[in-house]
Amino acid sequence: MIIGGGFTGLWTAYHLKRGHRDLGVVVLEQDICGGGPSGRNGGFASGWWDELDGLVELYGAEAAVTACREVARSIDAIGAFCTEHGVDAWFRKSGYVFAATGPRHEELCAAMAQAAAEAGVPEEMIQLTPEEVQSRCKSPAFRSGALMRDGASVQPAILARGLRRVVLGMGVTIHEGTRVQRLDPGPTAVTEHGVVRARHAVLAVNAWGIEWPAISRRVAAWSTYIVLTAPAPGKLAEIGWTGGELISDLRQSLRYFRTTRDGRIAFGGGGGRAAATIGRSFTHSLRAVEEAAGGFRRFFPSWSDVPIEDGWGGPVDVGPTHLPAFGTVEPGNVHYAVGYTGNGVAPSHLAGRVLADLIIGVDSDVVRLPVVNPKTGRFPPEPLRSLGAFAVRRAIIAFDNAEEAGRRPNLAASAVARLPRRLGYLLGP
Ligand SMILES: Cc1cc2nc3c(=O)[nH]c(=O)nc-3n(C[C@H](O)[C@H](O)[C@H](O)COP(=O)(O)OP(=O)(O)OC[C@H]3O[C@@H](n4cnc5c(N)ncnc54)[C@H](O)[C@@H]3O)c2cc1C
Repeated sequence: MIIGGGFTGLWTAYHLKRGHRDLGVVVLEQDICGGGPSGRNGGFASGWWDELDGLVELYGAEAAVTACREVARSIDAIGAFCTEHGVDAWFRKSGYVFAATGPRHEELCAAMAQAAAEAGVPEEMIQLTPEEVQSRCKSPAFRSGALMRDGASVQPAILARGLRRVVLGMGVTIHEGTRVQRLDPGPTAVTEHGVVRARHAVLAVNAWGIEWPAISRRVAAWSTYIVLTAPAPGKLAEIGWTGGELISDLRQSLRYFRTTRDGRIAFGGGGGRAAATIGRSFTHSLRAVEEAAGGFRRFFPSWSDVPIEDGWGGPVDVGPTHLPAFGTVEPGNVHYAVGYTGNGVAPSHLAGRVLADLIIGVDSDVVRLPVVNPKTGRFPPEPLRSLGAFAVRRAIIAFDNAEEAGRRPNLAASAVARLPRRLGYLLGP
């Protein structure tokens, strides 16, 4: 049984059924499949080469490169899935541009390119001059940058609903509107409509993981918001952004933006905050929508006459290493994938491959990846975890805003924002 019908749950169901047609697989989803972040994200199906320094620090260069290559394989596999099953999720592989907006961010771009070169894969992260960045997308905010070729855009809701259709066709049973209240030994899932008993359970609950004792120390929850402009393909042509590249800045409170097939810009990031329970602040914060809109107006002043037509948000499952962990907890029949830290579109496909192999008991290359059953850090227990997440997230946003305005971040914000790294987490500046 799989708890959670987002990408992680659905890809796990897909890979289980693909390998073993006769296996009974049931997905329990409190909302509709894709109703959570999987159906409402920025649609960046991006690689891990920007995470290379952290991966190398944790696991060494060879294991780090192997992990990045598996995520790359998953990006291509998502495209192949769409083709094979007639899911027109706007899959377009055009690469990912990191656009520096300040001197420290330029240094980060150089460091990412250097990390790739040192790991023997210089082609995976290439430095871009300011002119090269502007030629891909003109913005007065952008300086130099870096290009990661492992990046594809998707329309996430179409992908999630298409995946649902495909797994239903493969014989997976899906119960939407079914919240799992608890998991008893067995494992037995207790819902308000009845109980489900299975040989294995998968916790594919993303940021809701903060509510599940088995994995709660691996995750903290904060939110991110997106605004969507009206279609303006002529304006995209004016700024030269017709190549479909994914783009982000290098703030810790990342701003990420992409074009859509109908000529809009979807612009994410800004002011989402952390909280101890997943409630309305994750989806209904007008302040956070306005902050995302403010970022958009700052980066694209030439779009001042193009209206913003929509805005929305959702929770992000922040992991201590900025990377997800996949694995199995005691007594050995409960599996999980959590900690994507806002980058789960492509890695959730990899999670599905890993979790299916863990359930079947296959000793494959992917179950030997270092992110499977990692020994790496955990967050402190409650209430320290959520209080810490709240304070650190606020400090990071203050730090980023000061840097962006060309001010020195104030000492207190700077100290709190840097605290996670001092404590051994790979989070924050
Ligand atoms: C606004 C936003 C933008 C983002 N942009 C990007 C991006 O551009 N690129 C990228 O890679 N990532 C992005 N992310 C992150 C990405 O969406 C996630 O990493 C990814 O969707 C994780 O998939 P998942 O299946 O693990 O989680 P989810 O899609 O959250 O699925 C988990 C599901 O579990 C269900 N659930 C929880 N508790 C229970 C329960 N007790 N019983 C039953 N069901 C339950 C939830 O309803 C949910 O549907 C973004 C996230 C947000 C919020």
